Amino acid sequence: MQVTNYNPIQIEEKWQKLWKEQDSFRSQVDHFKTKYYVLEMFPYPSGKLHMGHMRVYSIGDVLARFLRMRDYNVMHPMGWDAFGLPAENAAIENNVNPAEWTAQNIEHMKEQQNRLGVSYDWQREVNTSSPDYYRWSQWLFLLMYKRNLAYKEKSNVNWCATCQTVLANEQVEKGLCWRCSAVVETRELEQWFLKTTDYAERLLDDLDDLEEWPERVKLMQQNWIGRSEGAEISFKVKEFPEEEIRTFTTRPDTLFGVTYMVLAPEHPLVKPLVEGTTREEEVMEFVSNVRQESEIDRTSEETPKIGLFTGRHAVNPINGEEVPILVGNYVLMAYGTGAVMGVPAHDQRDFEFARKYNLQVRVVIQPEGENLSGDSMAEAYDGPGKMINSGTFDGLSEKEGFRKVTEYLEEQDLGTFKVTYKLKDWLISRQRYWGAPIPIKYCDQCGAIPVPEEELPVELPMDVELSGNRVPSLSHYESFVKTTCHLCGEPAKRETDTMDTFICSSWYFLRYTSPNSETVPFDKEAVDYWMPVDQYIGGIEHAVLHLLYARFVTKVLYDAGMLKCHEPFTRLLAQGMVYKDGAKMSKSKGNVITPDEIVAKYGADTGRLFILFASPPEKDLDWNDQGVEGCYRFLRRAWRLIDECREEVISGGGRDDYRDSDSELQRSVHGAIKKVTHDIEERFNFNTAISAIMELVNATYAYRQAYENGQSNHAVLRDALEKMVILLAPFAPHIAEESWSLLGHEDSVHRQHWPQYDSEMLQVDQVEVVVQINGKVRGRINVPADCSEEQLIEEARNNERISELLDGKEVVKTIAVPGRLVNIVAR
Ligand SMILES: [Zn+2]
Ligand SMILES: [Zn+2]
Repeated sequence: MQVTNYNPIQIEEKWQKLWKEQDSFRSQVDHFKTKYYVLEMFPYPSGKLHMGHMRVYSIGDVLARFLRMRDYNVMHPMGWDAFGLPAENAAIENNVNPAEWTAQNIEHMKEQQNRLGVSYDWQREVNTSSPDYYRWSQWLFLLMYKRNLAYKEKSNVNWCATCQTVLANEQVEKGLCWRCSAVVETRELEQWFLKTTDYAERLLDDLDDLEEWPERVKLMQQNWIGRSEGAEISFKVKEFPEEEIRTFTTRPDTLFGVTYMVLAPEHPLVKPLVEGTTREEEVMEFVSNVRQESEIDRTSEETPKIGLFTGRHAVNPINGEEVPILVGNYVLMAYGTGAVMGVPAHDQRDFEFARKYNLQVRVVIQPEGENLSGDSMAEAYDGPGKMINSGTFDGLSEKEGFRKVTEYLEEQDLGTFKVTYKLKDWLISRQRYWGAPIPIKYCDQCGAIPVPEEELPVELPMDVELSGNRVPSLSHYESFVKTTCHLCGEPAKRETDTMDTFICSSWYFLRYTSPNSETVPFDKEAVDYWMPVDQYIGGIEHAVLHLLYARFVTKVLYDAGMLKCHEPFTRLLAQGMVYKDGAKMSKSKGNVITPDEIVAKYGADTGRLFILFASPPEKDLDWNDQGVEGCYRFLRRAWRLIDECREEVISGGGRDDYRDSDSELQRSVHGAIKKVTHDIEERFNFNTAISAIMELVNATYAYRQAYENGQSNHAVLRDALEKMVILLAPFAPHIAEESWSLLGHEDSVHRQHWPQYDSEMLQVDQVEVVVQINGKVRGRINVPADCSEEQLIEEARNNERISELLDGKEVVKTIAVPGRLVNIVAR
């Protein structure tokens, strides 16, 4: 038979075409099968796939293909997170409508994905920028509105001047815009918010149920939600006894250590406190200066903390002590109550402030065995200890003090126990064109009114003006703005802000379950069958943003009776980054390798195999050209083996008798099945699974070489080759498909049942070994034939009888002869 060369490009295109024609990866509700929903985070259609994409799709595809062969009913969909700013920038640059640009990119990227051989069910494709999708994003907004979870409010918000839009808190990283890294400013604007804070407690508590999420992701969400327990305490103003200042502290046990009070410049009491006094001018000037600075600057570690005395005093409710009231730049009205009680001995920020302004530092928690003094301390002490200088509370631990002081305040009606969260509501208004319009109308008579459901979608105007340096926001399109109030029939105006694109991605995994539903966002039967997503795969950068929003939206829909599950993703895998020469791949470093290049040079199977082999999925991966070559060589070697053997296998040649080498090869086959199955299923250790397949290929070559051609046991050889091809199928689906057909099969390898291993086959021969003590036979043990000397000695000493006999004796020497005996010399 003629030798066939491995030609990846040719066979990959052949099978991709066939899979597409046969719609091979179509998934449907089937109540007789166990469902499995595998999902990779959908991409933004930038137009180009990069290695990070290829990695995440390869991981998802191994699981999808493996689980189908394990007889699961697998859904593996793909779609497009298609709204967002880059489309607007590209539109200006290329003088093309954002919708058109997006559509072109989607088409191109889809081709690239298919060229990787990823087994997507394309019938389920969604595109968040298409009206039949975003009408349901708008519907989701209206649902929130009905449930009092959407509101409009004037407040200080994050503004990115470069992107010309506001940003949610989750989209500001260290004071910079998450998208363009410009410094974020604070602006006072009227904006739409969703009440994520109503769900803070559940978003936090339910993290405990997410057992198969990476701990670090859960920790990031936990920190972001930022729950703290404490007391809200009221201080009276000495000079105005009818006025109260409310403040929150996590350390009510340090209440006796308060030596001053600081108000935010925005605090409504500041003005009345200083009005008509000699302090007024200076304080109000300070207030107006500070208010021009951004919140981020004001709270930054580097910004000096400045305060100014108001001339007024607060009365400490626990001991009646009068302390000065200051105004300070670092206290924000938006967080907490806008007032901070200063406990410099036990809070570092307060300590630095107190030293700067010569305010008293009073120790009220004394650590065991120490004698801290307010005058000599070099830094605040925030650890455990006993209460001192605290009246009748002296001697209590800080924990007891927390409880007792709070109870006392509650009894006296001076304060209450309180839980607070760092999490803020989700700001969703964006002053940009390319997004889903917020479905609200403004009528002079009726006010702000939600667009009725039957008027959805509120469609984007398509006649985009492409002159100038940015796509004008919706307020520029008169035909869009003008509408009629459906309540009174008078002319009305539309809301011209669009929604944050994170709204679109907060529910797309639900739409996949019934992507063509026209009367509902998702079909009840389908969503209840498929949800939750069994395995979600994506980058760690979404740990707080997307994953928190998706959890929030799922809970809202659960509360609305639309979902049976209240968490969207059962298992989460955060895949690592792809590096080259130790650095992130980037154009500026000139170290970019694209999936296209790899596919053109080696084929998709080699690229996938390398990505999966080079590193476990959650770890970073360093791109390595030799590694790619190695994977290519391995596939060629596997190919050659199939090619050399196929005639013999098909024609039924070879011998029928059964020899030791046959059982050895069978042991290799079952060992490989066991290892690959466990490595994929339990640990996602694709790299070691691939090693096991490589070993099986080697073992089969060795088996072949032991005989002249045609002298293999026919059934054993055939079984080894078929199992090898099946095991390879999830990783390198094209070469597996072609090999399967070369071995004479007409059906697809991807429709085969995943093989079971036979544990009896894996049993290694056992031998009996004699155990002597001081030369006398004292016992016999059964050990594997290939047992090492160390193992042998250990087994011997662990034997019950031998260990009894050795009890109280000192072992001087041990001699082991593998396969025969162990002699222990003891005194
Ligand atoms: Zn920006
Ligand atoms: Zn009206």
